[in-house]
Amino acid sequence: MLIVQKYGGTSVGTVDRIRNVAKRCLASQRKGHKVVVIVSAMSGETNRLLGLAKQITELPDERELDVIASTGEQVTVGLLALAIHAEGGSAVSLLGHQVRILTDSAFARARIQDIDARAINAALDDGKIAVVAGFQGVDKDGNITTLGRGGSDTSAVAVAAALKADSCEIYTDVDGVYTADPNVVATARKVDRISYEEMLELASLGAKVLQIRSVEFGMKYGVRIHVRSSFNDNEGTWVVPEEKAMEAVLVAGVTATKDEAKVTLQGISDAPGIQAKVFKPLAAAGISLDVIVQAYVQNGRTNLTFTLSASDLPRARDILLKQCADVCTAEQIVSESGLSKVSIVGVGMRSHAGVALKMFEVLAKENIHVHLISTSEIKISCVIDAKYAELAVRALHDGFELGKS
Ligand code: ADP
Ligand code: ASP
Ligand code: MG
Repeated sequence: MLIVQKYGGTSVGTVDRIRNVAKRCLASQRKGHKVVVIVSAMSGETNRLLGLAKQITELPDERELDVIASTGEQVTVGLLALAIHAEGGSAVSLLGHQVRILTDSAFARARIQDIDARAINAALDDGKIAVVAGFQGVDKDGNITTLGRGGSDTSAVAVAAALKADSCEIYTDVDGVYTADPNVVATARKVDRISYEEMLELASLGAKVLQIRSVEFGMKYGVRIHVRSSFNDNEGTWVVPEEKAMEAVLVAGVTATKDEAKVTLQGISDAPGIQAKVFKPLAAAGISLDVIVQAYVQNGRTNLTFTLSASDLPRARDILLKQCADVCTAEQIVSESGLSKVSIVGVGMRSHAGVALKMFEVLAKENIHVHLISTSEIKISCVIDAKYAELAVRALHDGFELGKS
């Protein structure tokens, strides 16, 4: 079999752990498999590198940031290749441009366009373990790019798709995908199988165990993703098509995002085209909005509320003041940060009534104020004060009895 294994930051966080990873890769190879390993930077390293850049300037150029941030993975591929040699194995390290993981030029959030399988296949045909740097790629002009935080997951699943690997094992610091972040909810339960659809929602709503793009790739190319621990041999969680996920559970998981902010434009004109006027300059500045709610008020006046990442709030306010003066005055722009979005996710919601009611009852019991609500077919999200996020996650986990199998 051809197996792609990905080891995250904690799993390669020390030289001893890198040695442990080398042993695991060799054990798989000795079972007769061809092994491709993708590694992240050592834990904390990417933050450290980005922090160095921030010391030079508050708004670093993103092309240069990628040059800097990508070096974390360069170190780990070298160290892991050495560790495999030290164990008597044979391995070669490959950086993004050496494989040729071709991406677009959206620095810091590049998307993979194509992966050339030849260099990896050549290494495998030589009996070597191919050790590939996660998180990084190269654009058509030869610039180094990175895939966004947590991007090594996406490198791994994309490489598995390109090589038509038999499976993609994502090794991390927990035993698999849980009903909630096990570091927040002590009673969280590991699930054996989860559907791509649910995993996509959980990943996009804050469960960082898999980067969302990796799940998209997995779903599109049918990659068998197995999330498991690098510290033991326990069976982890398989991410599978919905029809293969055990039963259509009502709620598969609870999750929360942090660092959200909201803006309300109060009493603006209700005229057609007003929303486009507001959102156009924000989009042009690359600011993405999340929940958008417009409520009719009276006399042709309306309130338009939207959420965005708290880090984008100062820029967004500035743009609204400068470029939307014909829509709203400074007094009409009311903003608030320190918010969190807590969500429940499950395909079973499609066919069950009363799930939203239950969510509101649980939050009400904890006296948690709900700022905004947004729903899709398989999720319900509530924007709340960030200081209650963990309480809300625990209460919802309890309320929906997710700890019970
Ligand atoms: P890695 O460095 O291996 O990529 P990450 O830190 O990116 O690891 O992701 C693993 C972490 O994701 C866990 O330590 C856990 O705290 C967090 N997490 C959040 N939600 C979940 C969940 N539903 N199931 C499992 N882990 C989760
Ligand atoms: N090292 C990168 C990060 O910290 C990529 C990853 O770990 O997946 O975001
Ligand atoms: Mg990660």
